[in-house]
Amino acid sequence: MPSDLVIVYHRQPYEEVVENGETLYRENKSPNGIVPTLKGLFGKAKKGSWVAWKEAEDPNDPGFERVIEIEDSFGTYNVSRLPLTKEQVKSFYHVTSKEAFWPILHSFKDRYNYDPVDWPTFREVNWAFAEAAANEAAEGALVWVHDYNLWLVPGYLRKLRPDVTISFFHHTPFPSADMFNVLPWREEIVSSLLSCDVVGFHIPRYAANFARVAQSLFDCEISARRRIKQSDQPIGSALDERSMFTELTMEDGRTVALSASPVGIDVDYVRSKAEVVDDLVGEIKADMGEQKLILSVSRTDYTKGGIEQLLAYERLLQSRKDLIGKVRLMHVSVMANRNMTAYAEIQGEVEQIAGRINGTFGTLEWQPLALISQAVPFDKLVAYYRAADICWITPLADGMNLVCKEYIASRVDGDGVVVLSEFAGAAVELPSAILTNPFSSRSMDKAIEQGLAMSEPERRDRMKAMREQIERADIKAWGDEQLSYGKKAVGASAA
Ligand code: UDP
Repeated sequence: MPSDLVIVYHRQPYEEVVENGETLYRENKSPNGIVPTLKGLFGKAKKGSWVAWKEAEDPNDPGFERVIEIEDSFGTYNVSRLPLTKEQVKSFYHVTSKEAFWPILHSFKDRYNYDPVDWPTFREVNWAFAEAAANEAAEGALVWVHDYNLWLVPGYLRKLRPDVTISFFHHTPFPSADMFNVLPWREEIVSSLLSCDVVGFHIPRYAANFARVAQSLFDCEISARRRIKQSDQPIGSALDERSMFTELTMEDGRTVALSASPVGIDVDYVRSKAEVVDDLVGEIKADMGEQKLILSVSRTDYTKGGIEQLLAYERLLQSRKDLIGKVRLMHVSVMANRNMTAYAEIQGEVEQIAGRINGTFGTLEWQPLALISQAVPFDKLVAYYRAADICWITPLADGMNLVCKEYIASRVDGDGVVVLSEFAGAAVELPSAILTNPFSSRSMDKAIEQGLAMSEPERRDRMKAMREQIERADIKAWGDEQLSYGKKAVGASAA
């Protein structure tokens, strides 16, 4: 039976394990809950399908089972697996997406690496995703495509299946036109996106950037700007522009809706984890004694501002002698991709500055900084969230940033401080965080000092406002909102 909701997301929606020669598909729960939320949407459809890639030595092997039916707590749905070779994955994902697209999306022109890109392979892989989605989709289905590594899928899919509604969501920032247009494939990419019914972004600024890019390349105009959701926040606050829906009208009269809705987290799940780690929280607090714990958690990536943060911490210890022995920074910087030179270089620099800080300020009794390069399991991470006085998140560019939302959800005690870069998408939703500019050392210095000095009543007031926001805009709200945008777009074009 063909599906009326098809999700195209490059990762498979389960963990595949082989036990005693038998392949098992296990549900993997994650704090940000994107995969479970998307699977949860299948419950609203008559039948759902998920399209992802799966590594295969020989993609033409007749024994490779392309479409399997999964039955789990989300019901019964199809998973269409695209067999890709190691080389194809490396080319389309690690090279084109991560070395060429990622730096541009995050406005790092200097990091952009054009030479190794094999565009025909990128097209070929995206075409295969589009074909798989076309095979799964019922007449008039909603096909929801995710992220920049699948940018060309909407265009191909539109050719294969003019009848379906296509929605696309960007999980990253979307840059300004003079940045995006560095990509030599800009017209092909944007033309593909403009064949969608809805193109989604986290925040209005990214949607506005996309509209400008589209106008710089094609004859189209912004024809509508309206709010979909009544916010209960005062007019003019950052929250008020949280949800919006803009429309581009193309030369031929066709309209493309641009939506902005921030991805949230599974607040209940994070809270349930945070409620059962009392012992570990007690141990961490006992170990900290009177010292304040500042926590920073991110992947090692030039976009995440780890170096800027360590330098700010070094300046703090230099200028505030009274803090010697009184604070500790736990800087988690996880190397997600060890094969990329850019990430290895950043890691080297992070280690060097961390070593210098401990060498300069450390004593027999006190170590100012703990650098953690291995991923911290989520159950442990929530205990650190609960124990940390400050969550210090300073990306130079970040589509959303879920760590700060997880920290807020974990603070079942209602205390804690978030110091957050204004260049994280989450800053639009969290004006009650201490917002900082990681490109300015003065701003960085001021923000961390303000966080350390904040009184308990102020901390609790701000935390309450932030908690209300992440509860209101949780992952489920995001999923439902996106689905409704897709449906509205179908309604709009039918009208
Ligand atoms: N994370 C984790 N252990 C770590 C570091 C990070 O489980 O040691 C998780 C974290 O809980 C969050 C995700 O990784 O869910 C990072 O998401 P975010 O949006 O902050 O950044 P991204 O890495 O997606 O750019």
